[in-house]
Amino acid sequence: MRGVLDTPSGCGFLNCRRIPGVRKKRVPLANFLAPLRGGKGERVNTLSISDLDLSGKRVFMRVDFNVPLADGKITDDMRIEAALPSIRYVLEKHGRLILASHLGRPKGKPEPKYSLRPVATRLTELLGKPVQFAPDCVGAEVERLVSNLKDGDVLLLENLRFHAEEEKNDPAFARQLAALCDVYINDAFGAAHRAHASTAGIVSYVRQAAAGFLMQKEIEALSHALTKAERPYVAIVGGAKISDKIELIENFINMANTILIGGAMAYTFFRAKGLETGKSLVEVDKIGVAKQLMTKASQRDVLIELPVDHVVALSLDSTDAVVMSIQNTPPDRMGLDIGPETVRRYSEIIRQAKTIVWNGPMGVFENPSFAQGTFAVARAVAEANAFSVVGGGDSAAAVARAGVESRITHVSTGGGASLEFLSGQKLPGLEALTDATTF
Ligand code: ATP
Repeated sequence: MRGVLDTPSGCGFLNCRRIPGVRKKRVPLANFLAPLRGGKGERVNTLSISDLDLSGKRVFMRVDFNVPLADGKITDDMRIEAALPSIRYVLEKHGRLILASHLGRPKGKPEPKYSLRPVATRLTELLGKPVQFAPDCVGAEVERLVSNLKDGDVLLLENLRFHAEEEKNDPAFARQLAALCDVYINDAFGAAHRAHASTAGIVSYVRQAAAGFLMQKEIEALSHALTKAERPYVAIVGGAKISDKIELIENFINMANTILIGGAMAYTFFRAKGLETGKSLVEVDKIGVAKQLMTKASQRDVLIELPVDHVVALSLDSTDAVVMSIQNTPPDRMGLDIGPETVRRYSEIIRQAKTIVWNGPMGVFENPSFAQGTFAVARAVAEANAFSVVGGGDSAAAVARAGVESRITHVSTGGGASLEFLSGQKLPGLEALTDATTF
């Protein structure tokens, strides 16, 4: 059976965590699209992990364990936690689990600082059972460890990107990975926008390839925002550069009622309107693009809202923050956060929304002097009675730091992948599953 989604037991709702005293926002998965959807929201035909017979099988699961590390310690294990439903499911079904991931950018050769060993330790704690660690992801030693696996055992392979062949999607390397397993599961949504050996190439050499629960949950939530959105639909776009998000904004112009702009990219829009922006970050070569986006939006009756006031300072790390109106930006100051009047206006628009999609912080939220705008928007999104999706690594971090993560319908684990998907692009990792031969 193809294309039928299921969820692991006890996880029938997106974001089922609960905070005492806080209105619980549960969004039944049944409200979403049952079949997986491609980049334009079209139905794609793929196997689900729950379609597979896993008992006694060697199961190769591509996960996204690309976690932040400091001094060899994991500083945020959200991505490991997010993979647990699929991992536990395979173990409950008596599969022999082989986990594979990349970590960082080791440039195709082993680099100890990018070893996945700390992840094996953390996963052992989370699962309450030993997770073996392989010193490589291919080769004789890995084959020996795999052949010794018993039903319900877990083996984590060393970083896939210690081999340059991974990112080159090298067929021989993909075949070596495939030879380790009987079935393949892709649960690495965060790597789905890359056509690498472990996300795309491998699928040609396995008998069955299926989407894991995290992959399904991500695609369902993002597809909902693309195809089933209730109106008013509010998109919030911030971050450093307009150039990274042109396609995203174009896609929102086709879908949203209002687009709230924040972050440095607002200044390229201001320049397009002929305003002075002081030392604020502007992409001069994208001023024309900003003009075109504003014209397109007005032709479609979509409101592009820009900040009316902002927090300015001499530099990114200064503590001399001052609030002022956009019109009065002094030549020696840069805008680093949206101001309180903008927060009030944006919060009111967000409060009325039924669908909210947010990508990119409203300011330099890493510095507490410029974090208030982003945190206030995070609270407004959390309080709205809406289907809310946050995508983007920095935006997800900002939502977590604002302490409202559990009140957002879906916080995506994939920065680039969610951006590309919401921009209407196809994800090679998902498309590969669609093409997989089965049974
Ligand atoms: P990621 O790219 O990690 O997925 P994201 O899409 O959520 O994250 P980005 O577009 O990368 O966000 O932008 C985040 C960066 O933009 C942050 O480092 C933030 O400091 C920076 N930024 C936001 N506002 C400004 C501003 N006014 N001036 C300069 N930098 C800014």
